[in-house]
Amino acid sequence: MKTINLLNKCDLNVLNNYKVILNTDYIFIPIKNEDKIVVKKGDKVLKGTLVYGDIDKLYSSISGIVLDVINLNNYKYLIIKNDFKELTNNTRARDLNSMSKDDFLSYLNNNNFKNIINNNIDNLYINAIDNDPYIYNKYMYLKNNIKDIAILCKYLKKNFNIENIKIAIKNSYHELLGEYKVDLKYVRVPDIYPVGNNDILSKYLISSSNDYIIELKDIIDVLYEVIKNKKEHEKYITINGNNVKNPSVISVKKYSYLNNILSNYTLLDNEYDIILNNSLCGLVVNPKNIIVTDDIDGVIINKKCKYKTSKCSKCGLCVNVCPMKINPLIKNKKCIKCGLCNFVCPSKINIVDEVQR
Ligand code: SF4
Ligand code: SF4
Repeated sequence: MKTINLLNKCDLNVLNNYKVILNTDYIFIPIKNEDKIVVKKGDKVLKGTLVYGDIDKLYSSISGIVLDVINLNNYKYLIIKNDFKELTNNTRARDLNSMSKDDFLSYLNNNNFKNIINNNIDNLYINAIDNDPYIYNKYMYLKNNIKDIAILCKYLKKNFNIENIKIAIKNSYHELLGEYKVDLKYVRVPDIYPVGNNDILSKYLISSSNDYIIELKDIIDVLYEVIKNKKEHEKYITINGNNVKNPSVISVKKYSYLNNILSNYTLLDNEYDIILNNSLCGLVVNPKNIIVTDDIDGVIINKKCKYKTSKCSKCGLCVNVCPMKINPLIKNKKCIKCGLCNFVCPSKINIVDEVQR
């Protein structure tokens, strides 16, 4: 397996700069089928009201008034205007100390997690490694919620057949998390990319069929579904890149308008690209077309690169670097879109866009 070291200098700027930006005037809920909208224009909704009821169920992340459905870049969105009252149906948090295992399972909707914890488990690893060298959402989530996560892990160990629960972090995270250890166990892996991908991480961690990896997101789901007993209305995204003066991890309302969020940032150069989710091969987008949904983890704002591409010289570097051991020049379902082939290509060919996307 090949990986490369992509350590960068932005780390501390971002990690010391966590912000909460929840003051969105409107939210835009993505709609695939208008017939499945379960509210109507003019309705007052509470935070947590079901507004779209298809296979995916979508809930309002604010309280306010339902406006219209609009088209934005060929996608439909239901707009809700914020009343800034944060009104919600009060639900009580549940006490894990007095919760039976059966009750715990009945509250849990995350089927992936449900299937895994019913096994006999030697090691349950929680993947808390951000899968991009410039994105730090998992790090920040872990840091901000470490006590709740520790309490949950203790409960899981006591009530299910789990020998060990360990949080998988990068070496550099370990240094930074020193004071937040509580009574959790950590396993450290080398600071290389793309070790945050579960397929790659499993090569470092999994040694028997009784070892499992879950995502930190699974643990967050359990915290909300079982203990907090409410929907998750905010999400973490990282705003980073060499054109951002004040990079940070932020907590924002789900379904906020990205362009408004970016108005909180000072940009250094007038010519730049805005790249979604992956610094090596993410899509370059116009923020006026982007709503912060569950799929958006990071926004990389880089000074515009002015380089020319040339013809493939058949050097083979992209093949050598691929962690999935596939030929990047032939479309393959195994591609994890890590972008390492783009990164090493001396001809500056965007192999992911041209072949794998
Ligand atoms: S082909 Fe896919 S998995 Fe392989 S290096 Fe390129 S992006 Fe990564
Ligand atoms: S790294 Fe670039 S130039 Fe080399 S073989 Fe791959 S695509 Fe061609």
